[in-house]
Amino acid sequence: MADKRDYYEVLGVNRQASGPEIKKAYRNLAKQYHPDMNHNSEEIEQKFKEATEAYEILSDATKRQQYDQFGHAAFTQGGGGYGGFNDMGDMFGDIFGDFFGGGSRRRANAPQKGDNIQARINLEFEEAIFGVEKEIFVTVSEPCDTCDGSGAKPGTSKETCTTCAGQGQVRYNQQTLFGTVQSVRTCHQCGGSGQMIKEKCTDCHGSGLKKQNKKLSVTIPAGIDHGQSMRLRGKGEPGINGGPKGDVILQVYVKPHAILERRGEDIYYELPISFSQAALGTEVSVPTIDGNVTYEIKAGTQTNTKFRLRGKGVPHLNNIKLRGDQYVTVSVMTPKSLSDEERELFIQLAELAGETVDEGKKKKGIFNKIKDTLEK
Ligand SMILES: [Zn+2]
Ligand SMILES: [Zn+2]
Repeated sequence: MADKRDYYEVLGVNRQASGPEIKKAYRNLAKQYHPDMNHNSEEIEQKFKEATEAYEILSDATKRQQYDQFGHAAFTQGGGGYGGFNDMGDMFGDIFGDFFGGGSRRRANAPQKGDNIQARINLEFEEAIFGVEKEIFVTVSEPCDTCDGSGAKPGTSKETCTTCAGQGQVRYNQQTLFGTVQSVRTCHQCGGSGQMIKEKCTDCHGSGLKKQNKKLSVTIPAGIDHGQSMRLRGKGEPGINGGPKGDVILQVYVKPHAILERRGEDIYYELPISFSQAALGTEVSVPTIDGNVTYEIKAGTQTNTKFRLRGKGVPHLNNIKLRGDQYVTVSVMTPKSLSDEERELFIQLAELAGETVDEGKKKKGIFNKIKDTLEK
């Protein structure tokens, strides 16, 4: 008792700390030290108890006052004075509640759901849009063939753990300031399973499981998008103590398309047309996820003109009858290099419109060259 730490120091708060500050400090420590999260560490368990004890005193105005006045001595007289504090579990409900599912401790050998497996699936642009059947491989633990999953050498069988009598956990009494506290810890002998294997299966070393590369068929729904994930229920790691299997969480990666861009359920496309097509009008072929469609470009179309192809977008993930749209932006392309003849025609156009154009380049025009020759 002599080296008992100061309760404020234990919680890491100052002596003027408010009730909520104390509660917050304890919650943080409890999250760090809670036995359910730190299996088999006596030291951590001790820290947890120390913090719990400090909180028990400092969260109660009367007890806190006594402690402030007399220190630890306030509670040592007539040891066990705080009857009703026999099971620390009782107070978990109010402080943990949401954290630990009501605060009750899980039985060590209770059924537990198996672990989830994270996997990745790569899809082509169109596969994500219209859905596809895919096969993927995941590494998952399957029952060992040799021992039928028991972990025991064939011909032998599991036995009930003698240390915990099959309970998976052991209760032990501990003397504390508040009298005898009964605590529970996972049985070290059997690791919480309640059973022991005398002779281990040599194939799986007693685990009863073997990692296997397993093929899974996956139905990819139409409309899924890059960055979304799919849950394949019950395809993950086996449960513990008869619990259900975990899931496979599939992270979806979609390859971008060369010219179409998907944003949610809509598709965006930039349609390049020439000056002449924009000025005179034309019928163009527009690529969509359903194949090419023809579209009438009106004479005098400006660059950046937008039009919508209704229903040419992505099916909705939960209702494939509904589809997004495709948005097309017209981009009138300025020619980057001109043949002599093209240049001459542009010059004629410019002259008709009374526009000034680069004279230096004008001289290179074929008609001017002919004119130059004739003039010589
Ligand atoms: Zn045991
Ligand atoms: Zn085995």
